[in-house]
Amino acid sequence: MSEVLLTLSPYIKVALPVPMRTLFDYKVPKAIALRHELKPGMRVKVPFGKSSRLGVIVALSDHSEWDPEQIKPLTSLHDKSPVISAELMALCEWAARYYHHPIGDVIFHALPVLLRKGENAEFRTENWWFTTEKGRATSLEQLSRAPRQQDFLKAVQQHPNGLSQHAASVLDLAPSAAKVLEEKGLLRKEPRSFNKGGEKHAHQTQVPPTLNVEQMRATEHLLDYRNQFHVALLDGVTGSGKTEVFLRVMERLIEEGKQILVMVPEIGLTPQTLKRFEIRFNTDIVLMHSNMSDRERLDAWLLAASGHAKIIIGTRSAAFIPAPNLGLIVIDEEHDTSYKQHEGFRYHARDLAIKRAQALDIPVLLASATPSYESLTNALQKRFAWLKLRQRAGNAHIPVMERVDLRGKTLVHGFSEQALASMKLCLERKEQVLVFLNRRGYAPTLMCHQCGWIAACDHCDVNLTVHKRANKLHCHHCDAQKALIHTCPECQSEALFTVGEGTEQIETQLSTLFKDTPILRIDRDSTQRKSAMAKLTQKIHEHDQAILIGTQMLAKGHHFPNVTLVIIMDADAGLFSSDFRGMERTAQLITQVAGRAGRAKKPGHVLLQTYHPDHAAIECLCNLGYEHFAIDGLAERKSLSLPPFYHQVIVRAESGNEQEAMQLLSAMRNDLEPFFAKDVYLVGPYTAIIVRKAGQHRALISIKAAQRAPLHQATQMMSNWLEQSTKQHRIRFAIDVDPLETY
Ligand code: ADP
Ligand code: ZN
Ligand code: ZN
Repeated sequence: MSEVLLTLSPYIKVALPVPMRTLFDYKVPKAIALRHELKPGMRVKVPFGKSSRLGVIVALSDHSEWDPEQIKPLTSLHDKSPVISAELMALCEWAARYYHHPIGDVIFHALPVLLRKGENAEFRTENWWFTTEKGRATSLEQLSRAPRQQDFLKAVQQHPNGLSQHAASVLDLAPSAAKVLEEKGLLRKEPRSFNKGGEKHAHQTQVPPTLNVEQMRATEHLLDYRNQFHVALLDGVTGSGKTEVFLRVMERLIEEGKQILVMVPEIGLTPQTLKRFEIRFNTDIVLMHSNMSDRERLDAWLLAASGHAKIIIGTRSAAFIPAPNLGLIVIDEEHDTSYKQHEGFRYHARDLAIKRAQALDIPVLLASATPSYESLTNALQKRFAWLKLRQRAGNAHIPVMERVDLRGKTLVHGFSEQALASMKLCLERKEQVLVFLNRRGYAPTLMCHQCGWIAACDHCDVNLTVHKRANKLHCHHCDAQKALIHTCPECQSEALFTVGEGTEQIETQLSTLFKDTPILRIDRDSTQRKSAMAKLTQKIHEHDQAILIGTQMLAKGHHFPNVTLVIIMDADAGLFSSDFRGMERTAQLITQVAGRAGRAKKPGHVLLQTYHPDHAAIECLCNLGYEHFAIDGLAERKSLSLPPFYHQVIVRAESGNEQEAMQLLSAMRNDLEPFFAKDVYLVGPYTAIIVRKAGQHRALISIKAAQRAPLHQATQMMSNWLEQSTKQHRIRFAIDVDPLETY
């Protein structure tokens, strides 16, 4: 009897989640080859070292460069079909090369956590309840002594097509009651595959507003280019109706059977955003963000992969979501730095999305009121289409920006007289004030009056932040926490005092200044719990007059129609930063926060408190606006050969030992520099601004070049060198391509 092999190749190349920049070869045992057709993207169990690991097949191969005797057979096949499509596999391979990151880690990053752990790529099953014939015949009065059973039966009777476990819990029905009803023969249960699609409520779809001329022009442009690779920058002032434009384009693409990926910044994903999509589209929408459970994320992933979900709204990691009919990628607030992963696999979701769209031949829409300098440069150089919206939509007006000179003035809790007077008037008009201070906690420093001791982190070279509410000292760099102390550990004095102000302190002080006004604080501390943000926004909408105080979280995408006054407490923060991106970030933050004012019918006013009212940057931003500011900033970047005109890579080494990291990078520079192309420039090694973080001493080398090719060559050499040299040491290294941090 002849045997037919379903897998012809004798070897597979497998990606494993290990920090090695290589694939691993395994043999395909005949027993598996006879029964299964192995394909790239399927998961396999393989022996690795003394244990076994889950890996992903990247390729099938007829030969291996290793001695065939030494190649081990794979243990078992995990999937019936690939969990990584060919399209995503190609994207992962590109990303591993571009970011010089281990391919196994990239591929595992692209998968939902449960799939990394070996869960089957299947929807979870869920019980559905149905009435039996007896259950249908039973009148509810017969159960009047068992109200929970009565409620449950009533609900199932009202759902002739079955009631899901999920729906039952939403309706607050007792599961124990269902069990009794089942025992009585009134209900039967049936496990069904979980699929949100089955339970969709029909939403009333809202009649969209009539587009203004600018919106119309942008929409038409995007529709013209909807069937090809095309990157458009939708550069529109806050409240200019950017969202409305992409909703319009999405509408058409959904009619045409396409799926759309909408990317939002990590904390910008508000219930408000989702609501807006749900109201507009009567179609399946899935979310993908870090506040969901692993199971919820897998279900969302499956709905997208099956093509059921037409709209996928997600944060950074959604760049890797499978979507067989993907027709458009929207990146909202494209300038937001949360699109860049700051540790491990340091990819930029925007850049990855553009690469993905190019491979799929579909358009990308980048939206922002304050485009990144990178995207603006691409628009100026005509690689991206530049669609501008310079009017606010509807009847809203652009807010007026005014500088408040703090020099020589008496301040009350950090507020100028003018700011306090404006707040009072605003509240009297029953409108809302937004106070912006980009520093959470009560105070950034705790100090001893007697001896000058300062509370510092044991693991990092930074001071601890005082959190009075939580009664803690907290390191904002490594997350270390300890109880707030009231006696100096050096001199035992009780004269400890705080220096500087954070949002928590401003909140306390404002509540004494404005006694009867609701004061709502929005920062990472006040929004930690799952639905806290939703509750806060609801409160904001409930009140007429209120003071909102918050950090940059407040700057992101929120629509507070009754906010008419914005106070930027410290416009100078970031003005003299050592980071060459400091100005760009400051301008983006100020413009975004200012954009929260007067978004509805009432006009908005913005006060910037500054000790440098004549500083060219602040003047330019107030009088000429972000675009002008950015174009000036770009000219300066160009003259200094900085990104985006030069491309940059930062290599970081970290060690528990002070010298080791510096020595390693010096040795690397000595060994490799002679081999680098002439136009690759190196700086370093130098120590990080915060030298020690989480107990690790950090050294850096920065390299830059006008062209990507020589830079990548050099990076490749460094990555090989470091991988070899750190095998024996306990030094960790990281490569950051297109870094956004200066470290
Ligand atoms: P952006 O995304 O630029 O901040 P939005 O799309 O959120 O702006 O629009 C701001 C507000 O204006 C929203 O409440 C939106 O419904 C409304 N809006 C948008 N376009 C129009 C229009 N053409 N006419 C009237 N209102 C509009
Ligand atoms: Zn002391
Ligand atoms: Zn720390």
